[in-house]
Amino acid sequence: MRAYDLIHKKRDGEKLSPDELRFLVRGTTDGTVADEQLAAFLMAVFFRGMDPQTELPAWLDAMLHSGRVLDLSSIAGAKVDKHSTGGVGDKISLPLAPLVAACGVKVPMVSGRGLGHTGGTLDKLESIPGFSVNLSIEKFTQLVDELGLCLIGQTAEIAPADRKLYALRDATATVESIPLIASSILSKKLAEGIDALVLDVKVGKGAFMKSRDDARELARTMVDLCRAVGRGCTALLTSMDEPLGHAVGNACEVRESIEVLQNQGPAEIRELTLELGIEMLQAADAKLPREQARARLEKSLADGSALRKFAQLIEAQGGDARVCDDPDRLPKAKSIREIKAEHSGVVVALDAEQVGLAAVELGAGRARKEDKVDPAAGLYLRKKVGDPVRAGEVFAELHGADEARLDAGEKRMRAAITLGERAPEKAKLVLERVG
Ligand code: URA
Repeated sequence: MRAYDLIHKKRDGEKLSPDELRFLVRGTTDGTVADEQLAAFLMAVFFRGMDPQTELPAWLDAMLHSGRVLDLSSIAGAKVDKHSTGGVGDKISLPLAPLVAACGVKVPMVSGRGLGHTGGTLDKLESIPGFSVNLSIEKFTQLVDELGLCLIGQTAEIAPADRKLYALRDATATVESIPLIASSILSKKLAEGIDALVLDVKVGKGAFMKSRDDARELARTMVDLCRAVGRGCTALLTSMDEPLGHAVGNACEVRESIEVLQNQGPAEIRELTLELGIEMLQAADAKLPREQARARLEKSLADGSALRKFAQLIEAQGGDARVCDDPDRLPKAKSIREIKAEHSGVVVALDAEQVGLAAVELGAGRARKEDKVDPAAGLYLRKKVGDPVRAGEVFAELHGADEARLDAGEKRMRAAITLGERAPEKAKLVLERVG
């Protein structure tokens, strides 16, 4: 078999066999297929796609098995994870994982770091003093078994073919391909040894998928693909035009997540956490009615068991669990600036991408992969879409290390907000379910 012939076939719109796809993935992992050939193949897939019935399951299976696939079958009970395609202020994994674990479902979660204007769960967790996301697979398995959850970063052993292909896609303008995105995400998530996956596919200005049609197609592709390889999967399409909640930035988002676990916090964070929690409990037990799932989750928030689970997780991963009762122990920025409105009006838009970029300017994200994030940097939105604002009133509070950071953040933040005359119709949080 020659890579050249397979590129030629795909370029001309022919289907590749499972053996041919396996050959390419093997060649990616062991380096026997050259980078330029892989790049050309990715571009051919970008234009020609992959057959969802025959090619895509075989491609995913080969990507998944390019590295270690955890076997958690010795752990009793269903293992269910959630994956979000990424947004701004999207801290849902932080309250959701302990909440679902407190309801008895095992949550093995391998998460990512912030990318571009979007935040990442690992960066948020690492803002908790001492918290380590670099645990061995053995420790990860032990915590999932004994505590019911564990949150770590991707190791070099998991889906190495994706690591290589993702870097090539990033350099060759081939990221925005539904079959390539779907197989990339699922190859990492399914390697965790889960029984089912719940997807939160973000749609809107601050999301990867700007249109609802594209988001639906991505969700449908991932749900079908997961089922084709024998795992449960459902997806919610959720709105990401404005940031989720009020806090954006690592320690800021941990603080807001703790509020939710204390049975308080912004209604939209609580609501989305519950909606995704219902999906996860039902993925673990298909017979569980929706109302009962919701009641179980609400009880765990109200009786403190979800917050206790979060404190146990922090302690087990080396962090200072006292932040759960005393969030002032989280890192604090040296400088804080309140930004005031120049004129009165109603917030008609709060561009999530611009707000995310403001947080990056403040130090909460990375301009380059190797950059360090400032755990204390971020912002709090005092006003959200639909809120009235008076001239001179504060609409956001910025946290950063110095005045230069605050200046850059303020410029972005001012570009993010649009004031108008009349409140727009508020977008629904959960747009639709793909089951
Ligand atoms: N996240 C991934 O892990 N892979 C993609 O292709 C896109 C987003």
